[in-house]
Amino acid sequence: MTSPVTGPATDADVPGWVRSLGLPGLVDIHVHFLPDRVMRKVWAYFDDASRHYGVKWPVAYRLPEDERIEVLRSLGVLTYAPLVYPHKPGMAEWLTSWALDFGARVPEAVPTATLYPEPGVADIVASALDSGARCFKSHIQVGAFDPRDDLLDPAWGLLAEAGVPVVVHCGHGPVPGDYTGLDVFEKVLARHPRLTAVLAHAGMPEFDAALELVARYPRTYIDTTMVGTPFSEAMSPLPPDWPARLADVADRVLLGTDFPNIPYEYATQLRAIASWAAADDRLGDAFLRAVLHDAPARLLGVR
Ligand SMILES: [Zn+2]
Repeated sequence: MTSPVTGPATDADVPGWVRSLGLPGLVDIHVHFLPDRVMRKVWAYFDDASRHYGVKWPVAYRLPEDERIEVLRSLGVLTYAPLVYPHKPGMAEWLTSWALDFGARVPEAVPTATLYPEPGVADIVASALDSGARCFKSHIQVGAFDPRDDLLDPAWGLLAEAGVPVVVHCGHGPVPGDYTGLDVFEKVLARHPRLTAVLAHAGMPEFDAALELVARYPRTYIDTTMVGTPFSEAMSPLPPDWPARLADVADRVLLGTDFPNIPYEYATQLRAIASWAAADDRLGDAFLRAVLHDAPARLLGVR
């Protein structure tokens, strides 16, 4: 059998490539949808990326919301977690209610929620769980908060108990924040070792530290968001033995992309993942099926 290891050349090739792997479609645990006003601010920030990040960052899918939903549908993304995140107090609750509503009105979207260290955070998290939130997002770089904050402790506890995954941007990429660093987030894991934590961007640029956490905490995962794409390789290259090292943690790697705020086609991420699968005999198509569908589907409770 010819192995579809090179991945899809363009977005138009994605559905056929996914079918050739024997999959019904993709499950993406890391995409972003936000209220329009907030999304426009995010895009304005990326327009100024040269100043913020030292690179140009042209957002590839700068489209109205209904068209972005349609793009994911045409790519064959069966289920996704549309992640929202606050950058200041007083935002988490209304962003969460927006995301819960988005999950209710868009068939492919799971209801999601977010959290921020502020009074009442445990109630916000408990109420989001009651309302059916199936994935949380915690953005430590943009939020510029300490994940070890006492206010968050009961919230992490509730998430650990519920077994609901939280996608945590705790790495230093693309620019370090006051409390980024996997050593900082590890303190949370040490207190809540049963937390289902997804290290966004595989901890970029601390890939080694991320793999160590995955090895140490059985409920910790990495997502592939932007990892290994030519854009990221120019800033934060993967270690040369990356595919070999994934073989030990192959069931804890999850498809994530950062759609729509990526400076390249969606297919680019899939080619990066396909190149890892091709580079080690222990990975191959079975790895692709796990990463692109089975593992994220299990975590998001897709039946
Ligand atoms: Zn993201």
